[in-house]
Amino acid sequence: NVPFSAARIRDEFPVFRHHPDLIYLDNAATTQKPLAVLDAERRFYETANANIHRAAHRLGSAATDAFEGARTRIAAHLNAAHPDEVLFTRGTTEAINLAAHSWGRAHLRPGDVILLSTLEHHANIVPWQLVAQATGAIVKPIPLDADGTIDQRAFLSLLTPAIRLVGLTQCSNATGVLPPLAPMIAAAKAVGALVMIDGAQGIAHGGVDLQALGADFYAFSGHKLYGPTGVGVLWARRELLAKMPPWQAGGEMIDRVSFDGTTFAEPPFRFEAGTPPIAQAVGLAAAMDWLAGHDRDTLLRHELALRERFEAGLVQLDCIRVLSASAPRGPITALAFDGLHPYDVAQFLDGYGVAVRVGQHCAGPLHQALGLNGSLRASFAAYNTEADVDATLAALATTLEQLA
Ligand code: PMP
Repeated sequence: NVPFSAARIRDEFPVFRHHPDLIYLDNAATTQKPLAVLDAERRFYETANANIHRAAHRLGSAATDAFEGARTRIAAHLNAAHPDEVLFTRGTTEAINLAAHSWGRAHLRPGDVILLSTLEHHANIVPWQLVAQATGAIVKPIPLDADGTIDQRAFLSLLTPAIRLVGLTQCSNATGVLPPLAPMIAAAKAVGALVMIDGAQGIAHGGVDLQALGADFYAFSGHKLYGPTGVGVLWARRELLAKMPPWQAGGEMIDRVSFDGTTFAEPPFRFEAGTPPIAQAVGLAAAMDWLAGHDRDTLLRHELALRERFEAGLVQLDCIRVLSASAPRGPITALAFDGLHPYDVAQFLDGYGVAVRVGQHCAGPLHQALGLNGSLRASFAAYNTEADVDATLAALATTLEQLA
């Protein structure tokens, strides 16, 4: 067992060869890609590229094996009970839209309630709003407490048999807050609600064990997990998928088509209309294999130690506040500045080669609840180093002097 070294991990990411001075702290938006992922996609295109499932030739079989093999490996990494519970989508956004439009339109009735935490990314809000408009269901927010975490008493008091679905993030993409998922999922199930977990951030920091989690839907994107863009996953149990109608329609998702009527394929194919992201699925499986080659706890501890080092250094600087500072959080820090616009700060930081994100991070209701127009977010990944943190703190100190 080789001891953990962030510098060695960084060497596996070619982007840092092209940008040796880059301090990349925008990992919650998207992560950089290791050679293992780039090589897997390239190898697929060079050795097995064809369309899948129906080709009557050897290359088609190789492509199908690569794609279905990726599904099987991804299911194993997630501890899903069956590979056919893993549906390939374009990303988290499409995964949640699939669940909302397929399950929601078939099963929601006027007066049914969809309960969503105020921490949610717009991707776990807006699809439910559209489905509510179409079905007469009602979307209700679960309020936050003073710390910017989910108000647990309010949550329990909102739980009634009218609740059909509870939507929760595994980790807030804006503030890093980690909701206490296990008791919340258990409480939601106790009133008969289904639970959608947005794993877009959570999966990158520690991963997930789907059978232990006990949720009904789990959505994530490959690109936040060192994998390619253009691919993500919706997971749901077989029995639930069996009761869900198709959403998008076209080739691949059918059983038999005629102008008198069409019948549909079984899951997962029923939900994968058209040519899926084949090479990207292969790349996503390679990213999850690459992660599994490391000790996930060690990676997470490293990322959290970087966040703590950063926040400890911020104490020296005036006029900066860490949002939800005392809440359990993943390796994400959101900052608010007294009297300064975060956008100006980020522009100066970019001048020092530090990549961070400003704005509402697609979490408008969260920022409204916190009384902020926006925040500045630094998010950490396995390849970030203590030197990245120290250089960012130095750049921030100079920036504040310049803007004062
Ligand atoms: N949910 C969360 C928590 C996210 O962080 C993101 C990406 N910012 C999304 C959903 C949407 O992911 P994608 O854009 O890859 O579909």
